[in-house]
Amino acid sequence: MNCKNLKLRKKKGQVYLYCSLLKKVINYSDCKCCEQKEYKEYKKIKQRTYKQQKKDKNRYSVFTTDLDHCIECGRPHVNLHEIFFGRNRNNSIKYGFVIPLCDEEHHNQVNCRGIHFDSVLCLKWQKKGQLYFEKNVGSHEEFLETFKSNYLTK
Ligand SMILES: [Zn+2]
Ligand SMILES: [Zn+2]
Repeated sequence: MNCKNLKLRKKKGQVYLYCSLLKKVINYSDCKCCEQKEYKEYKKIKQRTYKQQKKDKNRYSVFTTDLDHCIECGRPHVNLHEIFFGRNRNNSIKYGFVIPLCDEEHHNQVNCRGIHFDSVLCLKWQKKGQLYFEKNVGSHEEFLETFKSNYLTK
């Protein structure tokens, strides 16, 4: 891949290389040895973000059809929480292991309250998720294969 500062320019039918960083005409070998080379990377990242956004928007829950009220207490103003978060976030989204939790009590990231700070509540839903998977989606082994952990023995 070429440096993003390397431009192909045309003057009087002649093509030459121009460096927009050094602001001068250069040879290809000058560019090759340059230590200030920069590459364009944003294209790939953009695509991934868009895909992720789409995934996030289509989130659903196998535990409730009401995504507007906290599954624990019924309060409105919820966050959709992935039961298996972190590296398993996308698998949670894929299998519908998402639950609505209120931002006042059960998913309050501002005041450090709720599921991310409550290992009992967290594990309760992870166990439910694993049991659901093993009953409706696949085998115990497939769960371990997919989520890389056994929450039932935690
Ligand atoms: Zn969460
Ligand atoms: Zn709640």
